[in-house]
Amino acid sequence: MNTIIKLEDIEAEVVHKNIRNIHLRVLPPDGKVRISAPFRTKNETIYKFACSKLNWISKQRIRIRKSTFESFQYINQETHYFRGRQYQLKVQEKNEPPVVQLLNNEIVLQVPDGADLETRRSVLQDWYHRQLEMVIPPLITKWESILNVSVRRFSIRSMKTRWGSCTPKTRSIRFNLELVKRAPECLEYIVVHELVHLLEASHNSKFKTLMDRFYPKWKFYRKELRSLPIKA
Ligand SMILES: [Zn+2]
Repeated sequence: MNTIIKLEDIEAEVVHKNIRNIHLRVLPPDGKVRISAPFRTKNETIYKFACSKLNWISKQRIRIRKSTFESFQYINQETHYFRGRQYQLKVQEKNEPPVVQLLNNEIVLQVPDGADLETRRSVLQDWYHRQLEMVIPPLITKWESILNVSVRRFSIRSMKTRWGSCTPKTRSIRFNLELVKRAPECLEYIVVHELVHLLEASHNSKFKTLMDRFYPKWKFYRKELRSLPIKA
């Protein structure tokens, strides 16, 4: 029987086997952690072993996720992310206008017959863009009223190094398109972060106090966002 242990914010699956030593593996495509341990190994021993590997685990996870994302082919069965959940890609070729649909655990990507990688990629990216464009305005409205600020405009870009940015002078905010792949709470954290910049431009202690007050779990979501490379 398999058990699950929690290592900080990582869950690891423990499998007992007829082996001599404990092994730990980080598995593609999403960096799941699996520990194989000899029968009758004490939980405490497994836990200590796993904790000693935490640094290594997070490095492996970043490496795995990076190589997974860099090698997207936009073909059937490929794992893609939306709003923090995993989906399998299902590609359908049809001579109709391209369309993307979410069905249970699948992202159905309908493209013209013989569409090349670049076409499939851009159809999916456009869809991601429209989805993010729909979920951001209600969040901005909500946080404008809580923080008593007003945003003049927002835009969505693909950015390599930042999740968002704010120019207080023009009250404009940018969001990274990749946010659409992360959990809704992570997106909301970035919305709050950028809107708080309208009250305090720099990341000083006043800024942090405001974040603590309005979005108490912000450090948790920041860590969540940092646990994987931005460019996904
Ligand atoms: Zn900032």
